[in-house]
Amino acid sequence: MVSEFVKTVAPSATISLLEKENELKAKGKKIISFSLGEPDFTTPLPVLKYACDEMFSGKTHYTPSSGILELREKIAEKYKKDNNVEASYKNVLVTPTKFALYISYLTLLNPGDEILLPDPGWVSYIEMAHLVGARPVLYSLDDDFQINEDDLKNKINNRTKAILINTPSNPTGSILTINSLKVIRDLAIDKNLYIISDEIYEKLIFEGSHISIASMDDMFYRTITVNGFSKSHAMTGLRIGYLIASIDLIKYMDNVQQHTLTCAPSFSQYAAIKALDDNEDSKKMTDEFKKRRDLIYNGLKNISIFSVKKPNATFYIFPKYSFRNFNSMEMANFILDELNISVVPGIAFGPSGENHLRFSFSTSEENIKEGIERLQKLI
Ligand code: PLP
Repeated sequence: MVSEFVKTVAPSATISLLEKENELKAKGKKIISFSLGEPDFTTPLPVLKYACDEMFSGKTHYTPSSGILELREKIAEKYKKDNNVEASYKNVLVTPTKFALYISYLTLLNPGDEILLPDPGWVSYIEMAHLVGARPVLYSLDDDFQINEDDLKNKINNRTKAILINTPSNPTGSILTINSLKVIRDLAIDKNLYIISDEIYEKLIFEGSHISIASMDDMFYRTITVNGFSKSHAMTGLRIGYLIASIDLIKYMDNVQQHTLTCAPSFSQYAAIKALDDNEDSKKMTDEFKKRRDLIYNGLKNISIFSVKKPNATFYIFPKYSFRNFNSMEMANFILDELNISVVPGIAFGPSGENHLRFSFSTSEENIKEGIERLQKLI
């Protein structure tokens, strides 16, 4: 029989929508897709060229399990320079971002332990908790998608082991303010909790700035910072990211990596080395996303069924809607059937996501304009 933990892992809530979208496309319908979870840009050429050259020169073998030393050093340097986090290469483990999160859960959580997760929050956080037999407990965000201190405090008990934060956030596109981070820090210290900080959208910021919680006083040793190259350099298929943690934790995490993944793919590690020198392409992509953000925000704002907050980061916008009492799954299905537009229903991101839709603006300006025109038909 299948393990009790694995049995509790739910399939993707949006699979049926995706199937329907593919069926409609096969019938020749022009679907405007606002559901993409990755940049629609190509991986920067210098990054690919560098990685290919390394491959052709024979670098196609195992690397050290924690990652190529040069890459670990560059990541530590980046975190020191850009994020004010006092990391050395010894604090870095190179691994795909999603796997970095999974290793973090495996390392911190015993079966029955509780981990606090943002609601709304990215879809895999809950299921990863199930995979390790831990209990996901959701904390809600306030109207500005910031930390709601009272709610968070109420959810902490003696089984709570860690709080996960995601800034900038998928699906809300918001950045946690210094005040929100201080609340988290004070609680973590007071209640002796670990923090997992998912910073994968850090490069895609339009206004405001990102603060790594590991840079705050007394936080480095209780924080696992997770980041990667999928979103910053359009490298989703290369499966490359990293985590930064105390040497005590890294020791155990490296053991997990040795006996599971062995090491991150060598090609992707070389690509990451080059990507760390390539802020230009990331910046160009962000500038492009900002134009599209303005376009979609202004478009949605003028459609009366939507109430929308301007996202300061990522390529997601997460409007609330009110339409015929439809829940978000019904709404996403309706929009797909009637307008041939695909979006992700808010419920996929937790109960607080209900009555919201996630639009990804990782699509062309033409598509955004046409999508908005079609959505106007809703009124
Ligand atoms: N964290 C968040 C918030 C994400 O949205 C994603 C991917 O969509 C990941 C982590 C995982 O990134 P990767 O695909 O690089 O493993």
